Amino acid sequence: LENCHLSTAIEPSWRQRNPQRVPNLIGGRFVDSQSFASIDVINPATQQVVSQVPLTTNEEFRAAVFAAKRAFPSWRDMPVTARQHIMFKLHELIRRDVEKLAFTISSEHGKTLKDAYGDVYRGLEVVEHATGMATLQMGEFVSNVSNGIDTYSIREPLGVCAGICPFNFPAMIPLWMFPIAVTCGNTFILKPSEKDPGASIILAELAMEAGLPNGVLNIVHGTNDIVNAICDDDNIRAISFVGSNTAGMHIYGRASAKGKRVQSNMGAKNHAIVMPDASIGATLNALVAAGFGAAGQRCMALSTVVFVGDSKSWENKLVELAKALKVNAGTEPDADLGPVISKQAKERVCRLIQTGVESGAKLLLDGRNVVVPGYEHGNFIGPTILSDVTSSMECYKEEIFGPVLLCMQADSLEEAINIINRNKYGNGASIFTTSGIAARKFQTEIEAGQVGINVPIPVPLPFFSFTGNKASFAGDLNFYGKAGVNFYTQIKTVTQQWKDLPSGGVSLAMPTSQ
Ligand code: NAD
Repeated sequence: LENCHLSTAIEPSWRQRNPQRVPNLIGGRFVDSQSFASIDVINPATQQVVSQVPLTTNEEFRAAVFAAKRAFPSWRDMPVTARQHIMFKLHELIRRDVEKLAFTISSEHGKTLKDAYGDVYRGLEVVEHATGMATLQMGEFVSNVSNGIDTYSIREPLGVCAGICPFNFPAMIPLWMFPIAVTCGNTFILKPSEKDPGASIILAELAMEAGLPNGVLNIVHGTNDIVNAICDDDNIRAISFVGSNTAGMHIYGRASAKGKRVQSNMGAKNHAIVMPDASIGATLNALVAAGFGAAGQRCMALSTVVFVGDSKSWENKLVELAKALKVNAGTEPDADLGPVISKQAKERVCRLIQTGVESGAKLLLDGRNVVVPGYEHGNFIGPTILSDVTSSMECYKEEIFGPVLLCMQADSLEEAINIINRNKYGNGASIFTTSGIAARKFQTEIEAGQVGINVPIPVPLPFFSFTGNKASFAGDLNFYGKAGVNFYTQIKTVTQQWKDLPSGGVSLAMPTSQ
């Protein structure tokens, strides 16, 4: 590691290139990668190349880890109040630049500007939470555990931690990770999604402007190879991952085998149960918003509705509401939903819709052939609704991650809960009802991390943890909340003795408190 060095001769060029190259951030400097290989970041509404992400070289990766390792001792030793002050400043700067962040997110990811603001603000809540780290990271103290002896525990940072991000929340998910990790006193290596890294770069610029010392936050880019390098590097102590099950389980296995802590938030198939007594207008609005918002590309999207009792009248009204949604480029002011992330994603979603039709589901609303004037090349899919869906269909078993709502029917709450609990995922689930008895049964019996009662997207504020059940999560310490601080810290337990020691002889027996 000591031998790692970088050529800085071409340092300014990443901004000047057209399309711009996304820089690495190593030891406090945004530097162009020496790599010849790069991936185009494509605006999904226009297919224009927004920028190019390099595949960070192995030498650059090692330099980033070295920078993080070198920055750790003095950052750890900085008073927690000073670290908190940097988070206060970062909070202010993110608010100042929210428009720039939202525009970058919308043009790389495709989500509507309004939704992109939500992406930033939900992440901002975590920065706000990190400003209270002195209290969150408090240890414990028991006085006089034995005569003249006290024991206390200290929550200490781990060292170098890393975060690997998905494409669907380009600001919120990096902000789930590094603000908590660094305010606990760790240093960090962030690997943004190669599909929309722009927001991570802006956030890192803001963090540097806020006073984060060089090397505390570093950014590297790439796909499988860089992820494997992160899993394998002995200097990295913990990995936060959010993304698909394929990548998440691979990372969990590989990094755990190296003795690292891993928290891995993965795929979802979030269901809503609609009871016959549910408030009609509010429930329909919630289903449409949670099913089609962000074109269904949220890990907490409600992608399946189970109607208890008659489903037909609900479905008809759903179709009417969904039909009225405006599909357009996310940067257009009237857009309700933008494109999906890539051509491959569009093909996959359309294929899954087709498998549903072929296995007997009814296509109540078909968004596959939507045309958006002025954006004819965009990866658009309009709201799509399939009814009479059963648990054996491929469209039900797979996470679709597109603007597709599946409708199922059950005769009782019991049956609806059983359908959900048989699904392999357990990220979120909601119930819509005016019955407290039904809601309480649902809350008790449902196997999901986030539970909503008349709330469609129950993403918790950061003083609680974002969790996940069954295949939606691997690890044992969740993101943010108390668990998030525990993930990024380890406990040191100190036993101290301050008394006049007796001069009587040596005892080789195990000391006890008796
Ligand atoms: P993805 O798994 O394709 O990519 C996530 C990250 O892993 C990226 O940085 C990517 O470069 C890397 N990666 C991808 N394949 C890899 C492989 N084979 N080996 C090593 N690294 C690999 O996920 P995505 O498409 O960007 O995101 C969508 C997924 O994320 C959905 O499944 C969604 O449900 C999930 N998600 C979950 C949560 C949650 O909190 N549970 C939140 C957001 C998104």
